[in-house]
Amino acid sequence: MTSRRIKLLIPKDRAELIPLLFTIFLICLYVTFELCVILPAIHHNIFTDKEISHLIFGFYVIFNLIGNLYICMITDTSINTIICPVLLPSTIVNSISTRKTQQDIIYYHCNWHYCHSCEVNVPPRSQHCRTCKICILKRDHHCIFLGRCIGFRNIRYYMCFLVWTWIGLVYCNILHMDYTYELVGTFSWRVMISCLCPLIAWLFNFVDHFSLLLSCICSTSIILSLYVLFLIIQQSFLISNSQTWYEYDKDIHTYNTGKGLRFNLQLVFGKRWYLALLNPLISSQPLGDGMSFDMHRSETRDAQNTGTKYI
Ligand SMILES: [Zn+2]
Ligand SMILES: [Zn+2]
Repeated sequence: MTSRRIKLLIPKDRAELIPLLFTIFLICLYVTFELCVILPAIHHNIFTDKEISHLIFGFYVIFNLIGNLYICMITDTSINTIICPVLLPSTIVNSISTRKTQQDIIYYHCNWHYCHSCEVNVPPRSQHCRTCKICILKRDHHCIFLGRCIGFRNIRYYMCFLVWTWIGLVYCNILHMDYTYELVGTFSWRVMISCLCPLIAWLFNFVDHFSLLLSCICSTSIILSLYVLFLIIQQSFLISNSQTWYEYDKDIHTYNTGKGLRFNLQLVFGKRWYLALLNPLISSQPLGDGMSFDMHRSETRDAQNTGTKYI
């Protein structure tokens, strides 16, 4: 069990260890920087209520961020977790012998399709990932920063990881502003340049070497928080439309049942979707089994009347 988890932690493509290690390095860098440099500089007495509340909130953010990242990485969301038929059961073949091919029959009955790489029939919304070299259940996309695919079983943890990363970065930005105010007493255009363009500030001798390093970390957290916010907005848009990245790209709306945002949230975060963000250890299974999905009414009618539309 432990060796399997370690195996899941390591990206299938070894080259992706570099962005993964870089992501972990950034998390460690910011945690160390805030705890050892920023917080002691802002709050000189560690035993004040304010300092303790900062520490509690900081550790809660870190717990959620690391917890969601870890579970996202060790969760196997591939077709390895289910049994995929190589051939169609004979009862189904016999029951509709008028259909032309086995693939048509699979689509007609349950919307499955054949993966030539995995050499099995795979459920609807599963897509083959060339990097992971396997089909992924309800594949959303392959995340190069985590070195794995995001799909049916781990998208909840991926989304929560993004949200807590963003909360952590915004919190860092607020602390950095407090820190800057503590250092210079006021905001000026020099401070703004130092925060936003540390290299330029260093070239014009506005800051020394150590301040350059601090400024780089501060400006990077601003850029990263904007980038992560952009990812959250993108992903939220897809969740609200009940689409994966592939379906969005191909303009497929088959699985947007029109049952509302609450239903779409339950598909990703589970029945207790409102608790999922609070703690990664809270159990909240996503709706469904990753193999069968509700379809839009008109799409269901089309499938019954005209037959094949592969995804
Ligand atoms: Zn495959
Ligand atoms: Zn992948």
